[in-house]
Amino acid sequence: MNTQDCIFCKIISKEIPTKIIAQNEDVLVMQDISPKAPVHYLILPKKHIVNVKQLEEQDSHYVSKMILMARKISEKLSGDGSFRLIMNNGAGAGQSVFHMHCHFLSGKKMTDF
Ligand code: 5GP
Ligand code: ZN
Repeated sequence: MNTQDCIFCKIISKEIPTKIIAQNEDVLVMQDISPKAPVHYLILPKKHIVNVKQLEEQDSHYVSKMILMARKISEKLSGDGSFRLIMNNGAGAGQSVFHMHCHFLSGKKMTDF
């Protein structure tokens, strides 16, 4: 799949509307369309990268930018501010959209995987 066929790239280019939670020049945070927790955001790089398996050294800064954005949005959480980050890499791990992203989950007690 190339950038033109990627639903997340279409969201980044505003071709498809979505609820944007936060963004900067490198990453975008949006509401997941099918939330699995009271707070379920997706944090994605604005560059089309398939997943960690295909992450190139020169794009590695996107990963730290994604984590730093998670910290920033966590500051607005209620309660103790706990959250879980999940990245699915490959269909066998549950990845269904092949544009690298991190699930940001919060708002309920999470004990197992
Ligand atoms: P994955 O299964 O690849 O780890 O996660 C993909 C996530 O993207 C799923 O949680 C799914 O609900 C979400 N998703 C799929 N299509 C859209 C969409 O068009 N808009 C938004 N906001 N989320 C989407
Ligand atoms: Zn993409």
